[in-house]
Amino acid sequence: MSARFNPAAFRAFAAAIGQEWVMTGDDDRLAFADHFAADENKHLPSGALSPASAEEVREIVRIANRYKVPLWPISRGKNFGYGGAAPVLKGAVVLDLSRMKQIEVDRENGTVLVEPGVGFFDLYDYLQANKIPLWLSVPGNSWGSVAGNALDRGVGYTSYGDHASRICGLEVVLPDGDLVRTGMGAMQGSPTWNLYRNGFGPGWDAMFCQSNFGIVTKLGLWLMPEPEAVAGYDYEFDKPDDLGWAIDTIMPLRREGLIQQSPSIGNWLRSAAVMTTREQWTSDKGPLDEKVVTAIRERFKIGWWSVQIRFYGHLDVVEASMRVLDRAFDKQPILSKKPALWKRGDPPEGSPVTGVPVTFPLANANWHGGRGGHLGYSPVLPPRGDLAMDQFKRTYALYQKYGMDYHASFSMSERSLVNVNQLLYDKDDPGMMGRVDAMFRALVADAKSLNYGEYRTHIDYMDLVAGTYDFNDRALLRLNQRVKDALDPNGVVAPGKSGIWPKVMRS
Ligand code: ADP
Repeated sequence: MSARFNPAAFRAFAAAIGQEWVMTGDDDRLAFADHFAADENKHLPSGALSPASAEEVREIVRIANRYKVPLWPISRGKNFGYGGAAPVLKGAVVLDLSRMKQIEVDRENGTVLVEPGVGFFDLYDYLQANKIPLWLSVPGNSWGSVAGNALDRGVGYTSYGDHASRICGLEVVLPDGDLVRTGMGAMQGSPTWNLYRNGFGPGWDAMFCQSNFGIVTKLGLWLMPEPEAVAGYDYEFDKPDDLGWAIDTIMPLRREGLIQQSPSIGNWLRSAAVMTTREQWTSDKGPLDEKVVTAIRERFKIGWWSVQIRFYGHLDVVEASMRVLDRAFDKQPILSKKPALWKRGDPPEGSPVTGVPVTFPLANANWHGGRGGHLGYSPVLPPRGDLAMDQFKRTYALYQKYGMDYHASFSMSERSLVNVNQLLYDKDDPGMMGRVDAMFRALVADAKSLNYGEYRTHIDYMDLVAGTYDFNDRALLRLNQRVKDALDPNGVVAPGKSGIWPKVMRS
């Protein structure tokens, strides 16, 4: 299935927002492709539009309905590993909101209202330039937008790292062009839009996350007041088997709220793939042998697994938390621990754990050389060490079977583990690219055999993953589709997002 280029619709778009913001050339279309895909053509849009305001978005949506043109809204379109800027449906028109860059900060209450084009770097610079003592939570690779990342349920490393849970109030253009504000924003002139989440009646913020029910034009987000101190440890663990007890040591502290960020315990390739390329370690194309793994670990002074744990807040409280953490790890066979301490007034640490945006993790796409890329695979597990060990062993075996280098982490939230894996590849290696799809499908099937679902997925696999949520003959998908049909009968907003297709496109 694909959508065809519609010249009349594009003329109407140009009349609405100006010809210069309507992009239909081959180069333009390629700019919005999925650059990590083996076949960039598969999800190529038929063009892109870049409106400057919510009013222009509304006009575009009305035109899209008139001509039945499917749109694919993006904020900055840097969702690499999940499809980048590209639409699920080939030929859909990318609605690039990156020109909309308004920032409104409520300094006293620690909130920001951002438009979709505001990047993490934009907001960081704005806070610094205006000397506003509020901190961001940024994803490891922070070149995307604050709004797009939160809407797709991206994560960061501070105690505000569950970005979707910090959303408070949205402005949304609905598929028919209506404009709605959620929560307290539903009241004209409300001073509590970005302060009180629930509003009155059903809550809609979550309905616009990973969904295709509307186009978000403003997003309220809570920011962390700059803490007096950040302290913690970087722990290293020697053996693969240490994963189990490490999780069982950290999880109770996470559950009871002593640890408020989501520690992410990851393997040695996380560092090596960012700092070096594979050919610096071996010319052997097969699985990395123990000698290579040992050499990598020695060079970076890391364990088989590493985890950073951090506390944020008043120095007294942070120091007390450190003592509790010390006691918890007291008798455990850690390989090493390195203390970290930042105090207000110190220069910024320059790392995501202190809310500073960075892009260097993107370098991992270069691990194999060639035109690199990666694909994310992220099932959610109950937070138990033994289950994590089983998950690790089964997944590791699949990496071995398909001849890929194991790259994984387990992120610990209050009541779950998210096992984020990356398949790093070289798009110029046809043999390797021939294995990626089969391996991904095997991973999803493996997770499904234990009824673990993925929290997020690449545009190629949205139907596959949505299909694994199969209670009562996929009742949730059917509910999503009923809402979709009610709001968007012409299917103009992001058809296929999260496996949700409008009636006109369901076979
Ligand atoms: P980033 O800006 O971090 O690069 P993207 O723009 O790639 O993030 O957004 C990630 C995904 O979230 C997109 O593929 C799209 O499905 C959805 N999305 C992003 N921005 C919006 C928005 N303003 N309204 C609705 N959905 C959005």
